[in-house]
Amino acid sequence: MALLEIKNVVKRFGDFTAVNNVSLSVEAGEFFTLLGPSGCGKTTLLRMLAGFEQPDSGQIVLDGQDMSRVPPEKRPVHTVFQSYALFPHMTVRQNIAFPLKMAGWDAKKIASQVEELLEDVRLTQFGDRYPHEMSGGQRQRVAIARALVDRPRLLLLDEPLSALDAKLREQMQIELINLQKEVGITFVYVTHDQGEALALSHRIAVMSHGQVEQLDTPETIYSYPRNRFVADFIGQCNVLEAEVVAGNGDGTATIEIKGCGRMRVALRGEVAPGQKGWLALRPEKIKVGRALAVEDGEVHFKGRVNDCLYLGDVTIYLVEVGDGVVIETMLPNSAPGLAKLFDDQDQVEIAWRFDAGSFVTE
Ligand code: ATP
Repeated sequence: MALLEIKNVVKRFGDFTAVNNVSLSVEAGEFFTLLGPSGCGKTTLLRMLAGFEQPDSGQIVLDGQDMSRVPPEKRPVHTVFQSYALFPHMTVRQNIAFPLKMAGWDAKKIASQVEELLEDVRLTQFGDRYPHEMSGGQRQRVAIARALVDRPRLLLLDEPLSALDAKLREQMQIELINLQKEVGITFVYVTHDQGEALALSHRIAVMSHGQVEQLDTPETIYSYPRNRFVADFIGQCNVLEAEVVAGNGDGTATIEIKGCGRMRVALRGEVAPGQKGWLALRPEKIKVGRALAVEDGEVHFKGRVNDCLYLGDVTIYLVEVGDGVVIETMLPNSAPGLAKLFDDQDQVEIAWRFDAGSFVTE
């Protein structure tokens, strides 16, 4: 049985539906992320897990127990917010000890538990500092330690890194991964940052308009977005208007891209002739060369480089093929000088394996 089961949960504010019939489950020990743009309902869903909001219908079941009538302070669940919410007049040790004091633990047990958590978040030498004497990243580690100190079944994290600068955020992401592994507590993490979600999570639920659009591992979501929204939202992706010509009966279909012609694509579901949709294709899955040998199972085009965007390690080439169709490609720059391989107006060929992209619908 899953640790957490969210069953047909609906939350309305007036006549606006913020969470629209969401069902999903989270396994014990998972690092699970709710990812989506602002307003998609991810925070509302998290707040229902914490008990700060009540669902209008549906159930939230934790460890087999329906949480509907359990108030926030009685749930074995803690939340870490972006704003840290530390007590400014307490030292780091006192902050972390606070929940255990409230719960009436004895002083010796509190002290040993606090030291263990300080070690987990690598802040042992900062135990006697006050929050204002620490950096943002350190304060967030204290907040996380305090939320973990009584070993909740579930830790909810609501955009905990968004107040930190990019460099520190990356460092904290590594620390969070390691901390979660070490303590083994199930994390449910909310973010609008797709890079963060891909880096941290065992599984991601991509949300839009109160619904889950796709729930998968980061690799599957990145490689095989299930619909147009996910393809557009996660990373760079060519999203080319396409129409199904015919299913081939072997898990592939022939599609037509206006201005480009017909090509084969692998399918992850049923399609019907005439069905309209898009080919979703990641730039880095496309080969680019002056002359490419055509290999079995590849889609192949001649084209011209319209624009180049040099990014140091890689260059993005916008290649025009067929009748005005522009396809974004991305290649590593060539060592040792890391120069780009092509220039504007160069004649090139591009190719991709038929199963490198997905046919997606709305
Ligand atoms: P953000 O990243 O901006 O916080 P989110 O995906 O977390 O976005 P929610 O905070 O869950 O989104 O909000 C979902 C929708 O519900 C939004 O349109 C928001 O305005 C609305 N909403 C949230 N809380 C309330 C409330 N208490 N009363 C009315 N509307 C609300």
